[in-house]
Amino acid sequence: TFTPSAALQRVQPSATLAVTQKARDLKAKGIDVISLGAGEPDFDTPDHIKEAAIDAIRRGETKYTAVDGIPELKDAIVKKFRRDNGLEYMAAQVHVSTGGKPVIYNALLASLNPGDEVIIPAPYWVSYPEMVNLVGGTPVPIRAGIESRFKITPEQLEAAITPKTRWLILNSPSNPTGVGYTAAELKALADVLLRHSHVWVMTDDMYEHIVYEGYEFATIAQVEPKLYDRTLTMNGVSKAYSMTGWRIGYAGGPQALIKEMGKVASQTTSNPCSISQWASVAALNGDHSFLEARNAAFLRRRGLVLEAINASDGLVAPTPEGAFYVFADCSGTLGKTAPDGTRIENDTDFCSALLEAEAVAVVPGVAFGLEPGFRISYATDDASLKEAGLRIQRFCASLK
Ligand code: PLP
Repeated sequence: TFTPSAALQRVQPSATLAVTQKARDLKAKGIDVISLGAGEPDFDTPDHIKEAAIDAIRRGETKYTAVDGIPELKDAIVKKFRRDNGLEYMAAQVHVSTGGKPVIYNALLASLNPGDEVIIPAPYWVSYPEMVNLVGGTPVPIRAGIESRFKITPEQLEAAITPKTRWLILNSPSNPTGVGYTAAELKALADVLLRHSHVWVMTDDMYEHIVYEGYEFATIAQVEPKLYDRTLTMNGVSKAYSMTGWRIGYAGGPQALIKEMGKVASQTTSNPCSISQWASVAALNGDHSFLEARNAAFLRRRGLVLEAINASDGLVAPTPEGAFYVFADCSGTLGKTAPDGTRIENDTDFCSALLEAEAVAVVPGVAFGLEPGFRISYATDDASLKEAGLRIQRFCASLK
């Protein structure tokens, strides 16, 4: 028999698996499932980025590189932070790894000791608490419900901080809710952190460029420069440039931390793919005008989803500022019974019954640490979203 390590025994298997597996089973049976579970843009990587990768292959950029990024990419990242965020980082303060996820993991592994606490607003991106568990830290979720538009307050942050707090993780715009903090809201959270000099902050800015209707993206080190020396500003090319498969993420932060993150990478992943790094140079330095049309499409799709959710009995969702997710509260459906006799006790029941009855796959809120609700990803075509919206409304109307 095989016994997994104690570290892995602390990690939960993905709660989204049940739903996605069920969707796959139904599809295999020939049922027309609309899957709104995926967390990636349906757009292709822009051509100028692909061309840069092809050129890199032709030039022979196919060997090991510096572990934490080629100088050209670090330079592009330095310029990006200056241009978009008003942040000054030197190349030695920049870490590049094989996606945004490993950047976060390298930072946690480099900094956490057993028992160290990491404050994570819930609903959260599923990997934060599990990565903290994996390295032996303790995730401390703060509940941010629909009543606060899924954002934490300064009072909640103050109450969650203990002498063992090592990090606060912020993700704005958020996966799974799409809501974004304003600069003023970030400043209010920063004011709390200024009173607790032992707490560092990791900001996951992956959705910076996917924002709507005049929402102005801000990141905490920019809003409160006094936090610069204890902020890790993390970002990546996956979402903005539709480069999920290329696996490049990066961060800027204090040099001592960045150095240790490089040490982690040097003994685990080594450098991220050389070709992807050159593609990312082209992405960051290149023309960004393609974003406008893509964001216009996302905005239209967000409208389709919100319209359907808010027209459904028992569902309600706030209007998100960014990303490509809507998080719907389904508390109005609890205690009801589906036509096949299933009683809806929680959001997992809701999502399973919706999938059974109408073949629409969405991810239950429990997976993101906030019940009862579910996440819809609208990174798919308009026709599928319209049809899914009709099915969700019909399903909710069928509940008795
Ligand atoms: N952070 C957030 C909030 C995300 O939604 C994702 C992707 O789902 C990531 C990080 C990870 O990105 P990557 O694919 O670059 O590892």
